[in-house]
Amino acid sequence: MENGGSALENERERREAGARSAEERAALERRVAERTAELRAANERLEAEIVRRRNVEAALRETSARYQAIVEAYDGLIYICSQDFRVEFMNARMIERTGRNAVGELCYRTLHNREEVCPWCVNERVFRGETVRWEVQSPLDQRWYYIVNSPIRHPDGRISKIAMITDITERKVSETALRESEQRYRRLLASVTDYVYTVEVRDGRPAATQHGPGCEAVTGYRPEEFSERPYLWLDMVYPEDRPAVIAHAEALLRGGPAEPLDHRIVRKDGAVRWVRNTPAPRFDAHGRLTGYDGLVKDVTERKKAIEERIRLERETAEARERAALERASRLASLGQLAAGVAHEVNNPLQGMLSHLEAIRRELPPDFPRQESLKMVERGIETIRALVHRLLWLGAAHPSETPVCRVSEAVAFVRELLHSSMERSRIRLHIELRSPNVEVRMAHGDLTQVLMNLLMNARDAMPEGGDLRIVCEREGDRALLTVSDTGVGIAPEHMTRLFEPFFTTKGARGTGLGLSVTDALVRARGGEIEVESEIGKGATFRVRLPIREEKP
Ligand code: ADP
Ligand code: MG
Repeated sequence: MENGGSALENERERREAGARSAEERAALERRVAERTAELRAANERLEAEIVRRRNVEAALRETSARYQAIVEAYDGLIYICSQDFRVEFMNARMIERTGRNAVGELCYRTLHNREEVCPWCVNERVFRGETVRWEVQSPLDQRWYYIVNSPIRHPDGRISKIAMITDITERKVSETALRESEQRYRRLLASVTDYVYTVEVRDGRPAATQHGPGCEAVTGYRPEEFSERPYLWLDMVYPEDRPAVIAHAEALLRGGPAEPLDHRIVRKDGAVRWVRNTPAPRFDAHGRLTGYDGLVKDVTERKKAIEERIRLERETAEARERAALERASRLASLGQLAAGVAHEVNNPLQGMLSHLEAIRRELPPDFPRQESLKMVERGIETIRALVHRLLWLGAAHPSETPVCRVSEAVAFVRELLHSSMERSRIRLHIELRSPNVEVRMAHGDLTQVLMNLLMNARDAMPEGGDLRIVCEREGDRALLTVSDTGVGIAPEHMTRLFEPFFTTKGARGTGLGLSVTDALVRARGGEIEVESEIGKGATFRVRLPIREEKP
């Protein structure tokens, strides 16, 4: 049985072995199939990875090209530097400005030609992660730059600083120019005393107004305020002047003549100013008023100046009048006094003269003191002449106009003073340029005028000198000029010369000569002027109305 059993066994074994190998093959095949699938998947993944990488690479190339393009297109300077101040990158414009590609060099040397780190360096803040924006004027080229400094992080953890720099010199220059022109404008505005306004008229009524920028300087109100308040132009008028302003505007709207109007305004700050409003109306083709433009000018200063001038003129006129009145009243009382004295003196004088005449008649012709008698007689005559003059002062003057030939009065006075002048070593020069001129004054008065002037001239030349009398015609007046080479008149005396009793001659003087002369000349519508330089002499000019020669 054993053998039989073992064949069976073998068969079983063989069958079992066969089954095993089939199983193994199947397993193998399964593994191969799995592996193949795995490999395919891996292959696919690889391919996908390759594609992805290719894409990334392309994208990277694109990005870097884009960045490059951006960097080069940037209209400014860019550089990158490391933490230890080494330049790592410069864009083309930066290279151009520096003159070379300075990668590897120190930034402060490259950029600002400095030997040490710039005092304004912001690296510390940038490397702490901050972005710093600032402006600087480079000492290298004096130009202004706007700089943005930011940190950039490298994949290996290093940090660099990127600087993007824009040249803002033009902007700075125009900013300064703008600031200056603004200041100039403000200054100009402050000095503006005029502005222009425009009024549109519709249906005979003002519809819209517009005020020029100068209005603020003149009124204190801005153009917008005038636009917002349509009646501000009237509200700002000084209340008392409003009726005139309204009437003026209404006349304009009716097409009346456009005349300037001066009125007051109350400025926004409360100050009252004078303005002159000069309107210019506009008409359409049919002659209808469409509006008017106007100029408003601050005339306060001018008004003030005019008022001041008027005030001054009034004051001087008043002062002059007062002085004239004073002089007239002094002369009048003096005249009364003089007339009284003259009257008293006149009678004994007449007596003296007639007694003298009687004595002379009874004296023998060879009486040895005849000359002395003549002197006494002449003295009495002189006193009588003086007394007559004093009587004239107190008398009411005749109103009829007498006439005197100037050359005759001059000849007469020359005759009277001839010897006295000679004694004083005074040379008399007489120039009759218009010998026939006649003035409206009595002969005796003109003689007295000349006598007073000549005697004063003589007194002014104690050491002798030249006395010149010129007589000429000046339009409808005769001009008599008496000049001497004497001591002259002190400036402080000039205004007092014509005052009665003003004299610098002490007891020898009366101070009446010039005041009488002035009164005589004025009474005939004439005037006297005086000019003098101390030490050189004095010149008196008398102007008198002439009597026109009869044809
Ligand atoms: P009086 O001759 O009596 O002093 P007047 O009225 O004639 O009075 O003159 C007033 C003053 O004017 C004089 O005292 C003198 O100071 C001054 N004066 C007048 N004429 C002259 C002159 N030609 N030169 C200098 N001073 C003069
Ligand atoms: Mg005198």
